[in-house]
Amino acid sequence: MSYSRHSAATRYAVVDGEISVGGIRLSRLAARVGRTPFYAYDRSLLVARMAELRALLPTTLSLHYAMKANPMPAVVGFMAGLVDGLDVASGGELLVALDTGTDPRQISFAGPGKSEVELMQSVAAGILVNVESRRELRLLAEVGSRLGLTPRVAIRVNPDFELKSSGMRMGGGAKQFGIDAEAVPDALAECAQLGLGFEGFHIFSGSQNLRVEAITEAQTKALALAIRLAQNAPSPVRTVNLGGGFGIPYFPGEQAIDLAPIGEHLRGLVVDAAAALPHVELVLELGRFLVGEAGVYVARVLDRKVSRGEVFLVIDGGLHHHLSASGNFGQVIRKNYPVEIGNRMGDVQREIASVVGPLCTPLDLLADRMELAVAQPGDLVVVYQSGAYGHSSSPTRFLSHPDAIQVLV
Ligand SMILES: *Cc1c(COP(=O)(O)O)cnc(C)c1O
Repeated sequence: MSYSRHSAATRYAVVDGEISVGGIRLSRLAARVGRTPFYAYDRSLLVARMAELRALLPTTLSLHYAMKANPMPAVVGFMAGLVDGLDVASGGELLVALDTGTDPRQISFAGPGKSEVELMQSVAAGILVNVESRRELRLLAEVGSRLGLTPRVAIRVNPDFELKSSGMRMGGGAKQFGIDAEAVPDALAECAQLGLGFEGFHIFSGSQNLRVEAITEAQTKALALAIRLAQNAPSPVRTVNLGGGFGIPYFPGEQAIDLAPIGEHLRGLVVDAAAALPHVELVLELGRFLVGEAGVYVARVLDRKVSRGEVFLVIDGGLHHHLSASGNFGQVIRKNYPVEIGNRMGDVQREIASVVGPLCTPLDLLADRMELAVAQPGDLVVVYQSGAYGHSSSPTRFLSHPDAIQVLV
């Protein structure tokens, strides 16, 4: 029987019938970790992805890592050495970002509902706050005068356009994110009046986009909007964050995005930006695209059951560690993540089987009737495309099973 491996799976070499992660055979890695389930993130794939971006995107463009995609401190620390800056979404993430030694001038904070404490942390650290409301402007001014520091602010704009065909829309229409584009001139006036250190705009319109034309169109519109809004800015615009939104392929039929035309398009935008805003630094903030393909989730088969003719592989992990792969983190119609029996890559005997977790809910399903190598208890199930929105976006307390271990190899 022949089958085609998912493009993500082919990034992991097969040695003696086992995939290897970070150059280590899966069974040896499992022994090294000590127990299953675990997430393993591969340094060499993080490096390769960054190199690919650097080769194809304009050199003057700054690349930031949006760390909510994978906030494991070792991953963030490693990424900090590869990117130009870090974007955080909470005070907790800020502490991890600062621990990496990243220059606070290269750290920014976006997120609706920043608390006064988080704003205080940000001002004290000297990072850029992407302001999402007038309340945040006023609180920043208060905190700044208390600390004797000038808060650094950018206005996060809720644009008057949407990122087409985005997996998760985060801009356009009525949204909780940012300040509506039409209300930005008033916010800028208040920013000046409060004596805040205005630096620029942040325009992020969505996530998990696989369509090149939609991404480039959103970038063109974001820059045009920033240039238009700059007319009301109290000081020269020094930074325009164009967001990110680059997706990765998860499901059958999805194709990896082609970076070459995006790079070509951005080369034009860099020129336009420099002409209109002479002091500007253009920033892309990417989360999923940087780390998503560099991670696998590994769990062990506990039981092999046949129910009315259908095979179920019951594993020691599940949706409590990997909500995304169960389809319950933003999927509308459940589809299977790429899954394989990682220690039986050479086996010719294959079957249709479902991979389920130990939780008492039918939602705990990591593969629904997929073609897999015939597995037995003790075998290792691998879920690819698990480097982003995996561990940290899962309900790890649900049913009180042990947490998954995370390793960077
Ligand atoms: C989540 C988020 C990102 C990262 O999105 P990805 O789809 O993981 O690239 C970037 N910027 C902001 C403001 C975010 O909230």
